[in-house]
Amino acid sequence: MSLHQDVHQKDQTEKLCGRSVRELIDRFGRRITYLRISVTDRCNLHCHYCMPAGRPTWFEREKLLSFEEIWRFVRVCSELGISKVRLTGGEPLLRSELPELVAMLRKIPGIREIAMTTNATLLARYAESLKIAGLDRLNVSLDSLRPERFARITQSDAFHQVWRGIETALSVGFAPLKLNVVVIKGINDDEVVDFARLTARYPFHVRFIEYMPIGANREDWERGKVVSCAEIRERIAREIPIKHAASDSEGKGPERTYAVCDGKGCIGFISPVSDEFCSACNRMRLTSDGKLRGCLMRNGELDIRDALRRGATDDELRELVLEAVARKPEKHTINSPDFEFSDFYTMNRLGG
Ligand code: SAM
Ligand code: SF4
Repeated sequence: MSLHQDVHQKDQTEKLCGRSVRELIDRFGRRITYLRISVTDRCNLHCHYCMPAGRPTWFEREKLLSFEEIWRFVRVCSELGISKVRLTGGEPLLRSELPELVAMLRKIPGIREIAMTTNATLLARYAESLKIAGLDRLNVSLDSLRPERFARITQSDAFHQVWRGIETALSVGFAPLKLNVVVIKGINDDEVVDFARLTARYPFHVRFIEYMPIGANREDWERGKVVSCAEIRERIAREIPIKHAASDSEGKGPERTYAVCDGKGCIGFISPVSDEFCSACNRMRLTSDGKLRGCLMRNGELDIRDALRRGATDDELRELVLEAVARKPEKHTINSPDFEFSDFYTMNRLGG
């Protein structure tokens, strides 16, 4: 780190410790307003790109944060300027009382948006109670519209169950519904036009995501399997008229390009590999074992669970958040030789 950066970081931390500032601004000038929380590492699917092959090993129950611990940490973060949280996992709905957590978080002043990312296998059962509890937005991950292929990717024949979950979510008012599609060469890249066409009939915001080197076995990811968002966009544009349009979230997060088709929904592109978006990053992550992390793709965590359990005061928790923000790296290193693959923090533990 250069001296200049070091001084800037100190200034920033002092300013933040001054309590009058309710903003988290890191040393690269990014305003941090968004916390993603992996509420469990467990999952009822086994997507080959997310978790290593073989029998998964889960954290013991006591390693996961309780709802009270999550609530307390989010309350402290909200006082520092975090206004959006996303519940993710593993599969968040495997924590069957999840609507209760949503209701608890809803009551925190300063939290303006609560979202969840789910595989939708249990959504038909929970969509209504999540809506009543105050969940604002839902993202559903779905990588194939073909039941047999879905089964190969996820090692589960739950396609129809997922589709029922999606329909229930729409019927209780989760629209537009975001659909996350991880595109992998030779696995599902021939379906990108089908996914785009769905937006003619449904109020879906389909987001194509490049395959990242996290989660699967080290040897599973190779650059040749990544389909760049530019290529996906081109393939779609050959079949369907699309045009660029500014979205609400453009500039605030990783979704850089946003295009609409004629119809009820739209499509978007998230390109962590081919087009780094780190300068617009506004987020921190709480892993399912209670560690706070500044970057999805760079190792280095602070232990929030330990602090909560040894009786840390709110001030001490705030200091940890400030430290994590001060340490937030400028960018990920997927495209550099320094990139460190983590066997421990797989995607289900990090929350995606
Ligand atoms: N189980 C939930 C689900 O699938 O939506 C939430 C957790 S999942 C880890 C969160 C997101 O990470 C999903 O949209 C998933 O597709 C994405 N993801 C997992 N592994 C990935 C990888 N290697 N590259 C890109 N995205 C990945
Ligand atoms: Fe489970 Fe989601 Fe990972 Fe698939 S992507 S294995 S559904 S956590």
